[in-house]
Amino acid sequence: MPITEVKKIWMNGKMVDWHDAKIHVLTHALHYGSAVFEGIRAYKTPEGPAVFRLSDHIKRLRNSAKVYFMDYGFTDEDLIQATKDLVKVNELDSCYIRPLVYRGYGEMGLNPLSADVDVLIACWPWGAYLGEEGIKHGITAKVSSFRRIDSNVMPPASKASGNYLNSILAKVEIIKAGYNEAVLLNTQGLVTDGSGENLFVVKDGVLYTPPTSDGALEGITRDSLITVANDLGYTVVEDHIVRSDLYLADEAFYSGTAAEVVPIREVDDRVIGEPGPVTKAIQEVFFKAIKGEHPDYKDWCELV
Ligand code: PMP
Repeated sequence: MPITEVKKIWMNGKMVDWHDAKIHVLTHALHYGSAVFEGIRAYKTPEGPAVFRLSDHIKRLRNSAKVYFMDYGFTDEDLIQATKDLVKVNELDSCYIRPLVYRGYGEMGLNPLSADVDVLIACWPWGAYLGEEGIKHGITAKVSSFRRIDSNVMPPASKASGNYLNSILAKVEIIKAGYNEAVLLNTQGLVTDGSGENLFVVKDGVLYTPPTSDGALEGITRDSLITVANDLGYTVVEDHIVRSDLYLADEAFYSGTAAEVVPIREVDDRVIGEPGPVTKAIQEVFFKAIKGEHPDYKDWCELV
């Protein structure tokens, strides 16, 4: 997806012009994937632009960095303020926001501990990641032959850049096969995530989603949807899911910051169908919540 240029990118405490936001080719992270990142969205709300669950994203960024001993010289409050300032300075109502903490220039080799840790935050306008049609009518999914990284290989709980080569393998495989999004199984064969989304199934009115211990990312959208579903009176169970649970689901959907809430119409050519009532009810509340239009979830919208 092409990036739309805006004015500024925040780099290590400074607002830098878009075209001057550069790094050296010998940056450690470029060679070894030694970076961690976040994906956040800001939405237009009646009170002005607001970043959805910004504090929780910045907290997860710190946890991702902790796994790789990446200490950065900014507090969570600093990064929260920097994100808000960046959205403001770029005069955006709504946008995607990408903070990146990365091992910088000056050291090479696989002991990164003395390499600098740099931080940047970028943002740009970004539409529906899996398409508006997908949000309305659902998308096709296929189980990838690539297994999701194991916690003892590269902990999926850390949103590390290097991890996403795993997602890229899965995504490219299923796109080339003619499907919209991947389903990744863990090494035990249990369902974990999409390439960049969590996953829910609905069976007999109950929602199921894989536990993080199976390899699912602790998604912030996932957490929001669990709250929304509970508030709507649904039971949500975190339990193992096997691929036939997807085939035999009454409804299924992906969740994520980029994707938002995207119904799954079929998995491995087994038809689930058009978005069902549970998915639609959750979508309706969620899309109100992110735009600051739902009184119960105003706290999630952090005004810039
Ligand atoms: N799983 C994976 C593998 C992801 O990359 C993402 C996107 N961060 C998600 C799930 C969804 O997480 P969130 O709702 O916090 O964006």
